[in-house]
Amino acid sequence: MAKCLRALGVKGILITAAERGHITEVKCGMPKCYCPEELGGSSHFDPATEYSDWNPTHEHFPRPKRDGGQRTIDNSVLAHRLCNRIDYSKSIGRSYVRDLERIRKAGEAAAES
Ligand SMILES: [Zn+2]
Repeated sequence: MAKCLRALGVKGILITAAERGHITEVKCGMPKCYCPEELGGSSHFDPATEYSDWNPTHEHFPRPKRDGGQRTIDNSVLAHRLCNRIDYSKSIGRSYVRDLERIRKAGEAAAES
């Protein structure tokens, strides 16, 4: 597990969380994952070597950073960069319509290739 994460370029607490059995699968841990099925859905990640909406990122969950959540093992989940961002946008009332539009296009492009 930790090995899979390392291969994706993940470092730090997420690796520790995987080693200790808190993270058990390479899967987006957000309540709602937006990665299109055409791309592989919640278990699809692009390696961190290249910037992508689907890079693995660390998210403070279940207790968000803004609510005082700490970067601890039991408050760490693996999340897509974009899912992480949309969740944050929702929480502060920022529009994420453009993100959704980009996701739709990414799904279409993947379906065509
Ligand atoms: Zn996701």
